[in-house]
Amino acid sequence: TPYLVDAFSFGKVNGCEGYFLTHYHADHYMGLTKSWAHGPIYCSKVTANLVKMKLKVDPSYIVVIPMDVPFVVDKDTTVVLVDANHCPGSVLFLFTIKKKGRTLRHLHTGDFRANPRMCLHPHIRQPDNPPIDCLYLDTTYMAPNHIFPAQQECINVVSDLLDMWLSFTKKQDNKKLLIVVGTYTIGKERIFYDIAKRINSKIYVTSEKKRIILCQENPELETLLTRDQHEAQVHVIPLGHIKQEHLKPYLASLEPHFTSLIAIRPTGWSFYPPAAILTKDLSLESLFKQPFAEPKIKINTGPEKVKIYSVPYSEHSSFRELAAFVGSLEIRTIIPTVNVSSLESRNHMESIYGPW
Ligand SMILES: [Zn+2]
Repeated sequence: TPYLVDAFSFGKVNGCEGYFLTHYHADHYMGLTKSWAHGPIYCSKVTANLVKMKLKVDPSYIVVIPMDVPFVVDKDTTVVLVDANHCPGSVLFLFTIKKKGRTLRHLHTGDFRANPRMCLHPHIRQPDNPPIDCLYLDTTYMAPNHIFPAQQECINVVSDLLDMWLSFTKKQDNKKLLIVVGTYTIGKERIFYDIAKRINSKIYVTSEKKRIILCQENPELETLLTRDQHEAQVHVIPLGHIKQEHLKPYLASLEPHFTSLIAIRPTGWSFYPPAAILTKDLSLESLFKQPFAEPKIKINTGPEKVKIYSVPYSEHSSFRELAAFVGSLEIRTIIPTVNVSSLESRNHMESIYGPW
């Protein structure tokens, strides 16, 4: 087909008539710059906002595609955008391609956190729709130890943590606890949004982060933002700044308005499942009998004013979610898109998802 997905780093590709972008993360838009002049870029509205604002790409190259309805790309190709449950603006691309009298269906997941809504989508669900001929799959966590919990469970654990902390402190000091959440450029907004709503606080963000959030067209979230550090009990800072040597001076600069600090590091990599619940049998039947891993945070109540907690909040599919997604659809071929640099890794992954 004359189209490419998340492939901007090669510049102009001969024969390519359009470039699709699944979401605004650097490893996917890499190569896309303000001098882009190689052809149309197809993406969702939010991704388009970010590409224009951050990368300054000439808007005449950007084609915004509406969600959930077939969009005609050319006489032989249509595409449907489906929410990828990854970062804001992220989508799956479902291509329907007419070729030599046949109709092919290609599903490209970009980065995604699989959920049942995708398998039940009017244009994906089976048997109403034909099988997927080719699935380009986000295999970030295609290994049986990656069984981190659901996002909502992680959010619940953070809520419990906050309740516990607030119950430790005297009521008049409750407003002196600062909650800091680490994030990348885009993604994991739900963590700080939920905390802020729960404790009825504004959210302090840097001016750059604010510009990025405004691209997401989420009015509820926008109303909570502030640039006043004292007005907000929830602060959002870069994930890389969640360490003691950065947070201690950060708190010191805000004393005595705030007197203690809890920092949240949301990352799927922070989860180590108990060995007892891992199974060697990776068939679908066995995986779905496996108990769910519970998120646990060790509460440490030492005298330090700054406490850091890692939460296994992930915007990629867990191993079990990958199994459920692949197992519930009829798919002819799977092409993994992550951890594919070695043949050994590709073969190993295929030995896992092949039988599903
Ligand atoms: Zn991503």
